[in-house]
Amino acid sequence: MYSIFSNLWVKPMKATVFHEHGGPDVLSYEDTDTPKVEDTQVLIKVKYVALNHLDLFVRRGIPGLKLEMPHILGSDISGEIVEVGSKVSVPFEIGQNVIVDPGISCGVCEFCIRGQESLCSSYGIIGEHYRGGYAEFFSVAAKNIIPIPKESDLDMAGAASIPLTLMTAWRLLMTKAQIKVGDDLLIIGIGGGVALAGLQIAKAAGARVIVTSSSNEKLEKAYGMGADIGINHNDTPEYHKEVFRLTNNRGVDIVLDSVGQATWDRSLKSLRKGGKLVTCGATSGPKAETNVNLLFWKQLEILGSTMGSRDELRMALKLVWNGTIRPTVDRILPLSRAQEAHEILEEGAQMGKLVLKP
Ligand SMILES: [Zn+2]
Repeated sequence: MYSIFSNLWVKPMKATVFHEHGGPDVLSYEDTDTPKVEDTQVLIKVKYVALNHLDLFVRRGIPGLKLEMPHILGSDISGEIVEVGSKVSVPFEIGQNVIVDPGISCGVCEFCIRGQESLCSSYGIIGEHYRGGYAEFFSVAAKNIIPIPKESDLDMAGAASIPLTLMTAWRLLMTKAQIKVGDDLLIIGIGGGVALAGLQIAKAAGARVIVTSSSNEKLEKAYGMGADIGINHNDTPEYHKEVFRLTNNRGVDIVLDSVGQATWDRSLKSLRKGGKLVTCGATSGPKAETNVNLLFWKQLEILGSTMGSRDELRMALKLVWNGTIRPTVDRILPLSRAQEAHEILEEGAQMGKLVLKP
């Protein structure tokens, strides 16, 4: 297909890359080649790219993950289509606004055939296993492109904030925990993308949501987004006791804990008999202790999950397109200031997504 950007891949573009693992200072805003567009791919002019905790882990280096350097981070991308590969059968339009499904799967293994792409043995994430969107241009398989409906009033910075955390939170709560109307959900550490998406999904599902934070300002904002009860875990470190008081000594049906080591024990203690702890991360560290007596006596379930399937992302996006779920953008910085954005995320000072603009 003809476009004014044909052969543009030979030209340089601006990107924030890193040549070696390390702190935020390894991020370098520089010229690099514009990605080539394969026959089955689409080239996007990146409008915004949102940060995830994953970016920090990849930048520092994940054991076993060998990257071709320089690497480009960025899993959550919004942009407009500027070129469509010759073998793409979907009638995409040049100039169309899109977001990107950040999961790359083989499409033929037993899990992919069942529609459980995030279990695919060769599952990879854009920005982690593949070069991502901290760049002016980004090319990706056409099947990863999700057009933004023209009727949607979603702004493009908000659109970039959505895919990774929304699909993750959807799978955690809807597929794994099977949250339903009347459930009590405890979310540990409101402020991160998965926590905020989880709050909105749980409210849409008719659950009561208790959130914790060390910041009263974050708790206030969470109330504005529908949280029913906020607990400041600095003022109330034994918050599991408060959770029991709030639930008539029953405990909550579900805990969403992606903090890990620092909160694991209290999360398990907050559950009712037969309750479920769901997790998709361990921002405070992975080596948490589990009281096995508590696990079997209370017949608890611990459910791990990562990312989500194409189907889960599309189901969740219906609630975005109709305005039920709103993205939460903390702030937008130019791509050249990615270092600063990483420092903010390292400190956990954000409420919602940090977004970069190339
Ligand atoms: Zn597969």
